[in-house]
Amino acid sequence: MFLFRINSLFKTLRFRLMLWNISVVLISVVLTLIALRTSFRVTLLRETDQLLREDAIEIELAANAMHPDLNDIRAEIERHTASHKHRGLFVQLYDKNKKPVFSSLDLEGIPLPKNPVRISNTLLTSEGFRFLDKGLQGNVAKDFSGFRVGSRMDLVEEDVESLSWLMLASMGFVVLIAPVGGYILAVQATKPIADIINTTSRLRPQNLTERFIIKGTGDELDRLTFTINGFLDRIAAFIQKKREFVANAAHELRSPLAAIGAASELALSRERTPEEYRETLGEISDKCDHFRLLINQLLLLAETEAGANIPHHVIQMDRIIEKSYDMFKDVASQQHIHFKLDSTSPALVLGEARQIQQVVNNLIDNALKFTPEGGTIVVELYKEASKIVLNVSDTGVGISKEDQSKVFDRFFQADRSHTKNAEALGGNGLGLSICKAIVESMGGTISVTSTLEKGSTFTITLPLIGPV
Ligand code: ADP
Repeated sequence: MFLFRINSLFKTLRFRLMLWNISVVLISVVLTLIALRTSFRVTLLRETDQLLREDAIEIELAANAMHPDLNDIRAEIERHTASHKHRGLFVQLYDKNKKPVFSSLDLEGIPLPKNPVRISNTLLTSEGFRFLDKGLQGNVAKDFSGFRVGSRMDLVEEDVESLSWLMLASMGFVVLIAPVGGYILAVQATKPIADIINTTSRLRPQNLTERFIIKGTGDELDRLTFTINGFLDRIAAFIQKKREFVANAAHELRSPLAAIGAASELALSRERTPEEYRETLGEISDKCDHFRLLINQLLLLAETEAGANIPHHVIQMDRIIEKSYDMFKDVASQQHIHFKLDSTSPALVLGEARQIQQVVNNLIDNALKFTPEGGTIVVELYKEASKIVLNVSDTGVGISKEDQSKVFDRFFQADRSHTKNAEALGGNGLGLSICKAIVESMGGTISVTSTLEKGSTFTITLPLIGPV
């Protein structure tokens, strides 16, 4: 159990953020300290070198000034080194054969040259000392070839060491503070995510009203919250639509079923003549047809929306239009409606012929239903860029602005107060939603423009294949 908890703790974003934070702080601190230590050492060395060069100039000047009195020269050198004892300064004088004739201090471990030295006039480091072998010029050069001036390096190292300890102490402090700071930062950074997780775990399909608070910081978490809220809005709208659909479908299915039930009960309530039975059975059969149509429409809608197994064949749209025109032209002339077809040369699209035929039939059928005697219906097909455009226009009752946005919703039927014989028109408000589902499954669009009492134009666009 404990191990499981530890394991899950390691997996949390909070823990990982904390680790990252600590690592970054530690690495930066270590690198900064190393850089500081190095630059401090370099600076101290430069300072030492500079002092040694100044010492050398002073000693040379003093030696020339005291020459030829060797005792005075020695005394001056002793005085100079004594006043810089804190730096561990020493001086050695070389005779003409470049052998030491005098050493200022008997410092233990001073690298006294046993053989004649090579006076290089450069600064060197050896056995914990920094020194400069300098040749003498002027009068004093008659008796002495040069001298060595140097100082102890361990003093520099001691300074560097004490700084290093100071730095290590501050690093230890940072090591103690970093996890706490890292934890606070990680908690702060992940708190909005924890809130999202808590709220999301409370959400149920039955209750999708809760939304996340957008803090207005404009950061990534705010954007994530905004995106999730939008996503929830869409899911809630989708579920609401599904609920309405199921309720409407149940309602629509109940009516023909109730009518069938009522007709059979009435028929069975007493003895009937064969004609009466025939009439009742005819009525029941009509209701069954309606019932079947409705169920087929619902199934088609569900299938099309799910994108289930819709085979896509090459379809010649101009042929489809002509078929529909042939099918409806007699009905139109019976209703004294001018019915015109304006179709283009072969226009190929991808889809299911039976379904797109149903779409075109549905639009023409609606136009016929809502166009009064003497009106006109025009079916027009043309190509535009890489798509085909199909317009079904009528001079019928039209659809109000408000209803135009809803006609493609399932079970929606617009206000029919302007329509004569409204009762006789029937329908169930599923036709256009099926058209929309089919057209969209073919990668197309469907829309309507309409003016009340002037007429409507339904427009379908579909991606064109083959020559434009
Ligand atoms: P219905 O079976 O009711 O015709 P549809 O989905 O085909 O269902 O149409 C939905 C509603 O849109 C219709 O009830 C009608 O109010 C309106 N409508 C459709 N086509 C037209 C049209 N050409 N002119 C006027 N109103 C129309």
